[in-house]
Amino acid sequence: MTIAENVRQLKKIVPSSVRILAAAKSQPIEKILEAIRAGIAIIGENYIQEAEEKFPFLKGKADFHCIGHLQTNKVSKAVKIFGMIQTVDSLKLAEALSRECKKQNKTMPILIEVNSAKEAQKNGAFPEEVESLAEKISALPNLSLRGLMTMGPVVKDPEQLRLYFRLTKKLFDKLKSTHLTNTSIEILSMGMSDSFQAAIEEGATMVRLGAKIFGQR
Ligand SMILES: *Cc1c(COP(=O)(O)O)cnc(C)c1O
Repeated sequence: MTIAENVRQLKKIVPSSVRILAAAKSQPIEKILEAIRAGIAIIGENYIQEAEEKFPFLKGKADFHCIGHLQTNKVSKAVKIFGMIQTVDSLKLAEALSRECKKQNKTMPILIEVNSAKEAQKNGAFPEEVESLAEKISALPNLSLRGLMTMGPVVKDPEQLRLYFRLTKKLFDKLKSTHLTNTSIEILSMGMSDSFQAAIEEGATMVRLGAKIFGQR
């Protein structure tokens, strides 16, 4: 199947209220442009250097989201390239982003990444830290907290991810009801190619798809 056909199929299954992000790590410009022409409006990149190389060719054609771990020493480049950072997982990173956005005279929409299975080797805030991190972030200038993102653990059966999706949705609803300043909780980014249907059933408002759009890497 071509990328255009993949996107067309996806749009039939994914409700129009759920945004589709194309996870484009290691994909060449040509393929990303094909996805954009087929109606994909959000491109996700994991690595700053790769995003920086591709950005000049894709600028203005789609929104760029950071979906990989962001180091504080890369925030200057990240703020130049991305329209959203989905992977804020510490106050230190949020503060660095806030300072840099002020410098570049921008307000950056961000998501808090939740390490929903509390895996030692994974990035993301632990579920019990999310509320207090959100409160602290809401007090920082030039950031706009929009919601939560989670990956979930690697499992054999995507059904096993529902537990983590459900937990993240619960946190999302809790945050929504707190009405923090500078905050508009509306994006719940969860679900990848093998799990997006379960994620949507559990309340995702954005799914991040690589293989389903571009084919197996
Ligand atoms: C690669 C990636 C995806 C998409 O993965 P697929 O299984 O190819 O759909 C989603 N989210 C993140 C953070 C990724 O790095």
